[in-house]
Amino acid sequence: MQDLVTLGQRIRHFRTAAGLTLDEAGARVGAAPSHLSLIENGRREPRLSLLTELAHAFGVPVQQLLDDQPPSERAALEIELGQIQRGALYASLGLPTIRAKSLSDDTLRAILGLYRELERRAKQAIATPEEARRGNTELRRRMRERNNYLPEIEDVAEQLLADAGHVSGALTHRTVSIMAERLGFELVHVNDLPHSARSVTDLENGRIYLPPASIPGGHGLRSMALQAMAHRVLGHEVPATYADFLQQRLEINYFAAAVLMPRKQSVEFLQKAKAERNIAVEDFRDAFGVTHEAAALRLTNLLTSHLDLELHFLRVGGDGAVQKAYENDGLRLPVDVTGSTEGQYVCRNWAARTAFGRMNRTTEFYQYTDTPEGTFFESAQTGTTTSEDFSITVGVPFAHSKWFRGRDTANRRGSTCPDEACCKRPPQDLQERWRGKAWSSARLHAQILSPLPSGTFPGVDDRELYEFLETHAARATD
Ligand SMILES: [Zn+2]
Repeated sequence: MQDLVTLGQRIRHFRTAAGLTLDEAGARVGAAPSHLSLIENGRREPRLSLLTELAHAFGVPVQQLLDDQPPSERAALEIELGQIQRGALYASLGLPTIRAKSLSDDTLRAILGLYRELERRAKQAIATPEEARRGNTELRRRMRERNNYLPEIEDVAEQLLADAGHVSGALTHRTVSIMAERLGFELVHVNDLPHSARSVTDLENGRIYLPPASIPGGHGLRSMALQAMAHRVLGHEVPATYADFLQQRLEINYFAAAVLMPRKQSVEFLQKAKAERNIAVEDFRDAFGVTHEAAALRLTNLLTSHLDLELHFLRVGGDGAVQKAYENDGLRLPVDVTGSTEGQYVCRNWAARTAFGRMNRTTEFYQYTDTPEGTFFESAQTGTTTSEDFSITVGVPFAHSKWFRGRDTANRRGSTCPDEACCKRPPQDLQERWRGKAWSSARLHAQILSPLPSGTFPGVDDRELYEFLETHAARATD
């Protein structure tokens, strides 16, 4: 069945073609002209008996009225304009509603053409998760070529640390504040940051707004402050593409890590641990006062470039899906057809997953994993966020295991993934028993990259951001 607007258009078209006014047509079929008018405007649905009488009065078969095509190009344009103005995209623009009747054909065509292009672009923006996955995969490939090491950012970090008078030991909040001051910024902790922003920088008044200093897990604050400064230090412009956005995010994370775990001290620490055959992520973490994940990631920057050790890093959720991954040691990461690894499940026999099964989760878990690509030594630590479990794994090829704590572990597992028979396929008897007798609904993966709402800064709500800046700038001058 056609929509009422098209039906009304066709009735009006055939009425005027028959040379009848509303009054005349109404008289012929015994209906009020006002009722016919409502039908022609698509606001009332005519009964079939009335339709039959109208068709008879116009001298056309009733099927002509019921056709789902607009009666003319002009009518099609008017219908489309009506549909557009009732839609959410048009409503979001805050523009007045216009009546098609008052417009020339060309004006209508121009408005509709512009609107179709607007709609096409909006749909393109919705396709961003795909773009994000491709961008992420490409970035990982480029970083693998560089052994995840960016000396130019290391140099900048070292210089800034030296200028701030930092010599050794874990970096304090105080030193981070001094670094900010030297860059012309004051660190201000506030309770009302925009929900979509991790930090906000007021360039005009030289302030970096951060969450309250007292929040649990506040050790992340130094990192957040450093990331905010990094945009300035590294000369970032507002990212034009998703790839730019990912590159900048990688660089600010890298900069924060290079300040919190300075290259010189970190390499010295790791070389000493290697000489003692006692490299452990947990020690490196504790020496620099950072999270286990930050320490493990920092090893991917430094172990290959300075200690000639290839390695892999994994952050895996309690469901077994990859949240972050890096390798330059030949470990075969699970990937989809596009080469993307985020959201793919790692083998049940890797330390990243066997570590979840342990009773004592306070210390690192060690395991040798035999794969078709060789044997790897892995060290995994599990953790919990407010919503889920995760594990952080650092692994190296067997030949390098002699430098690591935990190398004497008796834990050993075999893995032939991606061969389905390894751990993916359910046992034959269970399959037969349950086939057709159960149903399940999937949970969407929260870690899969979501599209960025458009705004001046990708992902940050413009209105919230500018209102926030306005409020705080006013308070600052009081
Ligand atoms: Zn497996």
